[in-house]
Parts: sequence; C-alpha cells; structure tokens
Amino acid sequence: MLVPLLQTTGQSSKLKTLATASAIGLAAVTIAPELLARGHETAAVTIFPIGAAILLVSVMSALRLVRCPRCKSPWLQFALAENSVGGWLTWLTTFSVCPDCGLSSDQIDKVPDRDR
Ligand SMILES: [Zn+2]
Repeated sequence: MLVPLLQTTGQSSKLKTLATASAIGLAAVTIAPELLARGHETAAVTIFPIGAAILLVSVMSALRLVRCPRCKSPWLQFALAENSVGGWLTWLTTFSVCPDCGLSSDQIDKVPDRDR
C-alpha cells in the first residue's frame, strides 16, 4: 500500500506551517477593522498591512512550494483546480501518485535532487 505522497516527501509539515501563517494573517486582517471601529486607529493601521502581507506571502508560497520533487508539478494548485471545494484538501493529503509524472511514494528514494 502506498503512503500519501505529501507525507512521504515531507511536505505536509510545510503545508501545515504555511496554513498556520495564513490563519494568523487572516485573523489579523479580520481583527483590524474591529479595532478601528473601537477607536484603536494606530493598532488597526499597523495590524492590517502586516496581516495582509503574512496572508499573501503564505498563500502564494504554499501554491508555489508544495510541489512534486521530480517534475515540480504544483500539487496544491492541482488540488484546488481539479477537485471540488470540499474535496481538495482530502485529495491533497491522501494522494499517493503524482498526477503529472506518476511518481509514487515507493519511488521516492529514486528521485534525484529531491526538494523536501
Ligand atoms: Zn511529478
């Protein structure tokens, strides 16, 4: 039985880190207008751009860096494009064969210059 490829390539921890950063950025962007409404203008004006930058950088990094170590296919982009709104994360965390080059977890030690 094949192990999920995201786990085998060590990219599930990368995805979790970037998802956590995205959540922090989203929280900051969400909280900033509330702070502004309550009269904390300096805090709101400081937190909003920092949160937006964290959110943007973490999402763009995840889209670019979660990829096949052999063919560099961007797996997160594939998951979002080819699966339903409710199914992309399940696919991403369970797929065991690269949809572009056929790399599977049992071949992972044969990949030259792998990018983990
Ligand atoms: Zn591939």
